[in-house]
Amino acid sequence: MSNLIIVGSVALDSVKTPFGSVKDALGGAATYSSYAASFFAKPSIVGVVGSDFSRQHLQLLQQRGINTDGVEIRKTGNTFRWEGYYEYDLNEAKTVRTELGVFADFEPKLPESYRNAEYVFLANIDPELQLNVIRRMKKPKLVLLDTMNYWISNKKQQLLEVIGKVDVLLLNDSEARQLFETPNLVKAAAAALKLGPKYVIVKKGEHGALLFSDGSHFSAPGYPLESIKDPTGCGDSFAGALIGYIAGKSSNSEKDLRKAIIYGSVIASFNAEDFSLERMKRLTMAEIEKRYSEFEMIREF
Ligand code: AMP
Repeated sequence: MSNLIIVGSVALDSVKTPFGSVKDALGGAATYSSYAASFFAKPSIVGVVGSDFSRQHLQLLQQRGINTDGVEIRKTGNTFRWEGYYEYDLNEAKTVRTELGVFADFEPKLPESYRNAEYVFLANIDPELQLNVIRRMKKPKLVLLDTMNYWISNKKQQLLEVIGKVDVLLLNDSEARQLFETPNLVKAAAAALKLGPKYVIVKKGEHGALLFSDGSHFSAPGYPLESIKDPTGCGDSFAGALIGYIAGKSSNSEKDLRKAIIYGSVIASFNAEDFSLERMKRLTMAEIEKRYSEFEMIREF
């Protein structure tokens, strides 16, 4: 039985930063987040790829213990491609092109064994599809939701509806301001909590993340990274590590959620050290624990 399922894009990314570039490298929200989660749990992913998708990419995920039965492999059509670049402000990705390919009519197909999962991460996809996945789950203990500005601009009502059905909402600061039409993140988080989620996490790029719940607040620092090469997938690896940690512990306590946010920050900071999944591929548990301890020290005063 799958304990954690992750639904989202599996992609081939072409990325340029001031420190190098890659073409058609493995990427996508489900890819980054499941790989990050695999340090703590055994995730299963739901996505779609085209006939051009290398088997080796799927094997890479499978070797990490990630179940890929939910990845539909289409016989025709191309895998979703994203092309983007970053300037010296690495917090902002500039999109050059998105070629949806087989992702254009993606309908998440949940194998029967996935429907009992207790933990669910709905990465950035159409909120109507996110809603369909929630409806098909039997009795999840915790659903984490991510989104992006495109859906805030184009499907706001559907997005607000799905937010009302999840336990934890994840947004970056500009999305929180846009969605709740306020420059004030505290007000935005309060508005989000009113819709139903128990927790709202606001990511602030390299500056850390804020956790809001009714009556409490936690602030995770950013890690002062010296060698950033490519921030692509940091948001997704943050989310994946976070839900992976929670699923691995099978705990919904706020204390564990706070720890999960720090593990999310740790994995995301490593992810930025190289292109695609390269840094996570050579990451060890010992390195993760060492950086986790450094985070504890950063926060001490
Ligand atoms: P982030 O964690 O925000 O840096 O997410 C980066 C990943 O999101 C990249 O690997 C892209 O392939 C993927 N991505 C970019 N645009 C979209 C989109 N419109 N829908 C789904 N995934 C996307």
